[in-house]
Amino acid sequence: MTQQRLLDVRNVSKKFGGVIALDDISFHVQHAEVLGLIGPNGAGKSTLFNVISGLILPTTGEIVLEGCTLAGMRPDQISALGAVRTFQSASLLVGMNVWDNVHVASLFRSREASDAEAAVDCTARAIAYCGLQDRIHALAESLTIGEQKRVEIARCIATAPRLVMTDEILAGLNPADSESILEMLIGLKKQGVSVIFVEHDVRSVMRISDRVVVIAQGKKLTEGSPDAVARDHKVIEVYLGGRYAQHH
Ligand code: ADP
Ligand code: MG
Repeated sequence: MTQQRLLDVRNVSKKFGGVIALDDISFHVQHAEVLGLIGPNGAGKSTLFNVISGLILPTTGEIVLEGCTLAGMRPDQISALGAVRTFQSASLLVGMNVWDNVHVASLFRSREASDAEAAVDCTARAIAYCGLQDRIHALAESLTIGEQKRVEIARCIATAPRLVMTDEILAGLNPADSESILEMLIGLKKQGVSVIFVEHDVRSVMRISDRVVVIAQGKKLTEGSPDAVARDHKVIEVYLGGRYAQHH
């Protein structure tokens, strides 16, 4: 029996004037799966997240989340359906503390009872999951970069998501902070949540991903198991070069 797909991206294209940022991209995400999404700068990774999360409309194509087409939905509606993302550059609410940052996000969930008490509960659980209990009163702008990234994950978790999309969340982190983020993402999968992991740190991608999709210049180059993708000549040529293969 084939498992029902969580997300289906079907023939999605996005043009910005003359620039074709996404060119007929199709792939899917299963339940409780980490999908690595890699490709050179400008490949279209962030644009793809923008389209899936409803920030921008695709020029053509369709996105289906658990059988529901997302055409024309707003980001808050899509997050209430269970798909949330982090941003490549810091997106925390400055002037607000950690608790409030996560609490605001918890109000955008709708899969569970949406009363105020449940939101507080969701907030507390997300904060505990991300090890931020001691930092709830700290202002967003006072956090280390590692803490900021953990708050970003906590904000996702507080929405009771089915799909979390992370956009270069390891960038700028030291090895210990990277490791704790990776553990959190692996933990999400164990709880049945899926992750689309956009990351330049190929070793981390290969370690936590069940499958990997490679895009370049807006087109899907290939997809497959981490091992198959790491050995793929096209992928080595346009992205990996020798740098991953040599150490692998
Ligand atoms: P990646 O995240 O893989 O580095 P992006 O999705 O940011 O790539 O960008 C893909 C392409 O789309 C790039 O050529 C970029 O300049 C272009 N692009 C992205 N967003 C916009 C926009 N809002 N307006 C015009 N061009 C854009
Ligand atoms: Mg990007």
